[in-house]
Amino acid sequence: MEQNDKLSDEILELRLQLEEAQDTINAIRTGQVDALVVKDTEGHQLYTLKTADQTYRVFIERMSEGAVTINRDGIILYCNTRFATMADVPLEKAIGKPLSSFVPDVSQDLLAHIVNSSWSNDCRQEIILKDGEGKDMHCLFSCNAIELDSGTALSIIITDLSVLKETERQLQVKNEQLEEARSTTEKLNDSLEATVKERTHDLTISREHFKLLNNNIVQMTWTNLPDGRVNSHNQRWYDYTGLDFGATQEFDWKKLVHPDDMQLTAEKFYQSLKTGEMFEVENRYRRHDGVYRWHLNRSRPLRNDDGEIIFWVGTATDIEDQKREIDRKDEFIGIASHELKTPLTSLKGYLQLIDGYKKEELPPVIKQYIAKAGISINKLQGLINDLLDVSKIKAGKLEYNLENVSVTYLVHQCVENAEHIYASYTFEKEILGDFTVKGNAERLEQVLMNLINNAVKYSQTNKNVVIKAAQHDNRVRVSVIDYGIGLSKDQQSRIFERFYRVEDKKNMTSGLGMGLYISHEIIKKHNGSIGVESEPGKGSTFYFELPVA
Ligand code: ADP
Repeated sequence: MEQNDKLSDEILELRLQLEEAQDTINAIRTGQVDALVVKDTEGHQLYTLKTADQTYRVFIERMSEGAVTINRDGIILYCNTRFATMADVPLEKAIGKPLSSFVPDVSQDLLAHIVNSSWSNDCRQEIILKDGEGKDMHCLFSCNAIELDSGTALSIIITDLSVLKETERQLQVKNEQLEEARSTTEKLNDSLEATVKERTHDLTISREHFKLLNNNIVQMTWTNLPDGRVNSHNQRWYDYTGLDFGATQEFDWKKLVHPDDMQLTAEKFYQSLKTGEMFEVENRYRRHDGVYRWHLNRSRPLRNDDGEIIFWVGTATDIEDQKREIDRKDEFIGIASHELKTPLTSLKGYLQLIDGYKKEELPPVIKQYIAKAGISINKLQGLINDLLDVSKIKAGKLEYNLENVSVTYLVHQCVENAEHIYASYTFEKEILGDFTVKGNAERLEQVLMNLINNAVKYSQTNKNVVIKAAQHDNRVRVSVIDYGIGLSKDQQSRIFERFYRVEDKKNMTSGLGMGLYISHEIIKKHNGSIGVESEPGKGSTFYFELPVA
């Protein structure tokens, strides 16, 4: 028992001594002491540490690199705390161990080589160390052989390159990314440049193309700003007018328009500027030699993506020759219809004579022939009358006296007439009142009969026709409704033109396209209006309106 207690006391004493020794070593390492008193067999001795070393001890202990000293056998004689931390071993366990035990197998040969050569020459070399978890740690070894009191040793300063390597790796990645981005940008740039070049080329071609076309076409062209000011003309304009660029600026074009056409031209021009709708007018422009020639003017707006007008593009086509041709045609029609009228009248007279001559003695077949010839002559007379009317309209000679006309009576009369001619059709009347207008009974009958004739002509399957008369405000409206082939919007806008006929091979009937034109002119003369509402395949409603007397 006594023996045990004694041993315990000794162990405790030794532990205290060990702790004290460790504290002392730490104090020496950290430079807290320069001398120590050691108790040995000869009593207390004073050991002084060389003062010059103190700075280096502190310096080595605190530096961020690992520091190791090894002997010729590669055994660690000394290492600083940083090395112990790098290798993740307690400081006291590192001292006395071979340095090679902290190096992975792959680096063993390199370590041996570094160590061997460093005894004779200082050397710096990168090498891999093992950290506490066995993971590779890139380090730089700086080796110097040093002479100590106890003999030669190799001092190695170890710099941890992990952070540097990681930074280098990241830098490398970033560099690669940068390179990739640069090359992508370069490619993009190249393709952008190519596209721009191509577009510029296309644009130049298209501009030159446009310029060439614009200056070589026979039409005069110009562009207007949204407020109407002219900002360009083509070469043809300058050639025709004999003016130069400066002289045709702003609104100078007005000086070139024939005074008689100016009002209509200006009205339509300002109307289009206001509404943005196409400008179209026929007028006469003065040529450089003072001669006026008829032109068809058209101008359309060019709009941006927001629908705002950027500028107007206008053209003027010389229609002088067409106008002359039309005049000659009109003249010919006038003369021909006049010439035809005289023999036709005598033909009709002779036929009537034959018809009246011993009628009862004529064989029935001859009577039939005379009746048929009479129908044909009436048709021919109708055509010639229409042609004469067209000529009169053109010459401004469609004149007649106005008197009170009963529209109600007119409708009854025309329907009775139609029922007599078109026996297979049903005519329904809807007369909502007794209406009187100021007009020419014969001409109004001509209009209504023309509308009824057309209703029959253009509705071969559904044989119902409705004729209505009703008052709208202070106007009386007469409508003729059929359920026939109908008309498209485009056709509706043109049917009142002279000689216009719808080109429909399937429903083609005889006619010259004069009826509606004449009707339109007659109604115009009555201060009325004529119009149509229609849907292809469903039928049409033609109507005219006249002021109530
Ligand atoms: P046309 O002698 O050709 O009938 P019009 O001037 O009377 O001449 O009519 C002009 C054109 O209008 C006709 O050719 C025809 O195509 C069209 N049209 C007139 N009335 C009708 C209608 N009721 N239904 C369909 N189309 C019509």
